[in-house]
Amino acid sequence: MKKSFKHSLPDEFGYFGEYGGSFVPEELQQIIDEITSAYKSIRRDKAFQDELSDLYQHYVGRPSPIFHAKNLSSKCGADIYLKREDLNHTGAHKINHCLGEAILAKKMGKTKILAETGAGQHGVALATAATLLGLKCDIYMGEVDIRKEHPNVVRMQILGATIIPVSHGRRTLKEAVDSAFEGYLKDPVNQFYAIGSVVGPHPFPMMVRDFQSIVGKEAKQQFKEMAGDSPDNIIACIGGGSNAIGLFTAFLEDESVRLYGVEPAGKNIDRAGEHAATLTKGEPGIMHGFKSYMLKDSQGEPQEVYSVASGLDYPSVGPQHSYLKDIGRVEYKTINDREAIDAFFSLSRQEGIIPAVESAHAIAFALKLAQQGEQGTMLINLSGRGDKDIDFVVEGYGGDYGISESL
Ligand SMILES: *Cc1c(COP(=O)(O)O)cnc(C)c1O
Repeated sequence: MKKSFKHSLPDEFGYFGEYGGSFVPEELQQIIDEITSAYKSIRRDKAFQDELSDLYQHYVGRPSPIFHAKNLSSKCGADIYLKREDLNHTGAHKINHCLGEAILAKKMGKTKILAETGAGQHGVALATAATLLGLKCDIYMGEVDIRKEHPNVVRMQILGATIIPVSHGRRTLKEAVDSAFEGYLKDPVNQFYAIGSVVGPHPFPMMVRDFQSIVGKEAKQQFKEMAGDSPDNIIACIGGGSNAIGLFTAFLEDESVRLYGVEPAGKNIDRAGEHAATLTKGEPGIMHGFKSYMLKDSQGEPQEVYSVASGLDYPSVGPQHSYLKDIGRVEYKTINDREAIDAFFSLSRQEGIIPAVESAHAIAFALKLAQQGEQGTMLINLSGRGDKDIDFVVEGYGGDYGISESL
């Protein structure tokens, strides 16, 4: 039985099985429908594809290499390969979809792109794409995050973006989403809301996936050239799910490849508010305009979530992942803060590569699989570099790894 995941999903209303869709106010639906039809008409347009490929190659630095992590492999007994999205311009996979969204916005005649940001990673990638394409850029960010993520705030300002501080509620990501949404509704004709992962109403989960699927397309060919076969296991961390689906898509139909998505178990997976393991602990529901697994509080509202990796703390997840969980094509596992930090130091000290704390969740799970006796090949998506995390990691955990604070 051959299932055509890639070409049949989502359906024309944006559903992956029962998940996805578009649950937005009527006046906004009209604007979103315009985005859907603009995207559908340009996705096969040669000029659009050429412009995007040219930027991937000469601006982002694609194809990103696959690196055979032999030191780590010999330590753990499995055979580990890393897809090096950390080597992209701006240091992570997010630039892949930000460029796609920015080109689309420009082709639609929009003059400004906007988004919220939590840790600032999406904001920096979007500000970069906006500048390159000559678009204005507004980034909504909670005041708490502005203080915490100062270097990224400065980066966005240097790139010419306007930071709009959000001062209500807990002044973090959720409030930033609400404010960005309000800002968008003020002028949806000239503005384009560039969603930062495979979440939100249709067509965003499909569109962001399509832009990220370059990662798996390259990896499939590169891995074959290096190892002569497909990988036995593919592993990626899951926040909204964009880096994971980007790598998985090329392998969905090859059932001999085991696919693993790794969610953050945070401090305690059994306590609401101390993790962000949406697929593991959540239930189906609707938030932010789409249906998917979500973490709800007792009122049915989005739960408080937490992870040491700020790029992973989102109380919902891309709808395609919910579908892939239900049909059993992808296994979703969890890794806690401590395991992720250990993996952060392992990769740094075995291979000389400092990973993003988000990506360290995927590394940690690979090491765990190896410990459980898996000896096959593992391809891990190294979604980003860890420069952004070094101060925070050393402050919180450096002592455990022999890093003296007195230097
Ligand atoms: C944002 C981010 C993630 C999480 O987002 P996904 O949409 O789940 O990929 C993971 N890794 C890095 C480095 C990030 O910046």
